[in-house]
Amino acid sequence: MIMKDRARPGIEKVCDAGLRRLWPDNPVAGKLEERRKQAEAGFGGEERVDSVLAEYRHPGPIRIIPDVGLVCGSRFQLDVLVLTQSWACLLEVKNISGRSVIKDIPPQLVRITKDGREEALGSPFAQLDSNLMLFRDWLHERNTPIPVYGAVVFAYPSQMVEAAAATHPILFPNRIPFFLRNLPGRPLLDEHDLNELTRQVLVSHEPFVQRPLCTMYPQVTERTVRTGVMCTACGEFGMRWRDRAWHCSCSCSCISRSAHVKAIQDWFHIFSGGMTNEECRRFLEVEDRHAARRMMKSAGLIEKGKADGKPIINHDFGALREGALF
Ligand SMILES: [Zn+2]
Repeated sequence: MIMKDRARPGIEKVCDAGLRRLWPDNPVAGKLEERRKQAEAGFGGEERVDSVLAEYRHPGPIRIIPDVGLVCGSRFQLDVLVLTQSWACLLEVKNISGRSVIKDIPPQLVRITKDGREEALGSPFAQLDSNLMLFRDWLHERNTPIPVYGAVVFAYPSQMVEAAAATHPILFPNRIPFFLRNLPGRPLLDEHDLNELTRQVLVSHEPFVQRPLCTMYPQVTERTVRTGVMCTACGEFGMRWRDRAWHCSCSCSCISRSAHVKAIQDWFHIFSGGMTNEECRRFLEVEDRHAARRMMKSAGLIEKGKADGKPIINHDFGALREGALF
């Protein structure tokens, strides 16, 4: 039984906002395209594993929890957590194009692209070791004495993988059912305990909060980002606010009452902290501070006193932000 949905990676929206707003010759723009592709591939791989697990039938009750964020001393993220009455199993999912060579010393995954470029990434074995340790500690804190197993799953059999020494099983999705079926089957929990454990995982789950672009790339500043409101029909920047609506300045003559919402979301994906009225006016290129206030409210922003330091929750994209909005 699959217990919750898998959220799309937040980095996609950050990359999209950056690609809309940075000038094409900005060196960060090229990196964002690559990063977005990787995030999309990673998510596609995880969905592929989800679909195999959705069809898997286990001899006893089974709970499958995709994309879990837990805290035990430090925060850790599990691609897939599988719980049964006998064991827990963590699946670390990879979808990396090109050839992947997993090295022991230092623990690295070296990706070799079709054109021969090499790129070093973190070792999935080291990642799994760390997650196994933290999840065992997490279970220990809850007096749940079940063994925890793990495997690295490469989402597509077409992926070329080499590992000098495999300290954990490496699987393709079609092998997951056999792997799970062959884990020791002695029940240590009754079904009520299993449901309670599942409930605890779900209530403890802390979704990943995506950082805005400027904290990932310090070279992204107000000066390097295009201001203005993009036309919802033709995609050109430079919509003008008059008579309580946005008017496209090019020949498409599109009129919109809500085109600012996407622009304000872009701002939050790119910059950190809360948005002030002045920042809003500059970014949307409007002069009327009352109009700007209404636009911020209609975009779902919560008004806070000036610099009161309280966290602000922006409901539109669930990001926790510190600072003042107005
Ligand atoms: Zn237009």
